[in-house]
Amino acid sequence: MDTVQPESPSSTLPRMRIPVGISACLMGMEVRHDKGHKHSRYCTEVLAPYFEFRSLCPEMGAGMPAPRKAMHLVEPDPDSGTEALRLLTTDGERDCTAQMQDFIDRTLESLAPLRGYILMAKSPSCGMERIRVYNAAGNVQRRDASGLFAAALAERYPLMPLEEEGRLNDATLRENFIERVYLYEDWCQMVERGLTAQQLIDFHSRHKFQLLAHCQKTYRELGPMLANMKARPLEDIAGDYIHAVMVAMKKRVSRGAHVNTLQHLAGFLRKDLGEADLALINEQIDAYLREEVPLVVPMTLLRGALRKTDQPYLAQQCYLSPYPDPLGLRNRV
Ligand code: SF4
Repeated sequence: MDTVQPESPSSTLPRMRIPVGISACLMGMEVRHDKGHKHSRYCTEVLAPYFEFRSLCPEMGAGMPAPRKAMHLVEPDPDSGTEALRLLTTDGERDCTAQMQDFIDRTLESLAPLRGYILMAKSPSCGMERIRVYNAAGNVQRRDASGLFAAALAERYPLMPLEEEGRLNDATLRENFIERVYLYEDWCQMVERGLTAQQLIDFHSRHKFQLLAHCQKTYRELGPMLANMKARPLEDIAGDYIHAVMVAMKKRVSRGAHVNTLQHLAGFLRKDLGEADLALINEQIDAYLREEVPLVVPMTLLRGALRKTDQPYLAQQCYLSPYPDPLGLRNRV
């Protein structure tokens, strides 16, 4: 796997960056079929201090040169007896499916340490969704496929957060993806330390308000699932649990859901805070609901209030600080 190191980190950066995969053309590498790139400054300048990017070009990795003929996905060969999409040059002269599949088979297992993946959109190899599929005559038959590499990645690592770079321009999707990467990193670290019932309960405790914000239904279901750890093998419970968590975390958090969660948190502080402090917090929650201030405003007030109290259960909530503050993600949602 090709690895590109971002510019040397300064002393203020976190000690450890999270390993995240990325399509190599997004790192500015000239690997596209026209020998160009699709450099993402957001990735290389904003995210690189936090993510240790591991870049990969599946087409180059499969042995294709740059420049090369453009490719697209084509419907399965009716004589092949399989449902597998094919990767063909757009002139139909060359079938690169086996070459790509061989690369996927050789590479996929080495991607297990990654905690997320940023993919280049519209590519028949890297595109995550809405990829066009053509028939043998060159006409578009559907627009709902994934690139061959992206599809294999999603199938092998169903928990891993995946996102297309273009969608990171949307503040809500960007915040959601990065939040999921940090939560998945927390999960993987816990599993690497050795899964225990207590660790699973602790994980659930610190991510509870994130779950409440993302999906109340999942929030209500997972408590009972963890209440009886003796009912099934721990690994089975943990597997079902994290699958449900990652599905829930993919849901966009509405303004109303954030307000509900913030009010829930503020409710815990009622006894500890003076009326003036509580009134200020509630005013800013209302202002957030009216879209007058971003989420960071009531969140910062709540965090400040928490420092004046002794509420370890609240203080551990990742909802209050799901990723490093300097990313500034909650200034825009
Ligand atoms: S989209 Fe993927 S396969 Fe295409 S150039 Fe970029 S990294 Fe390579």
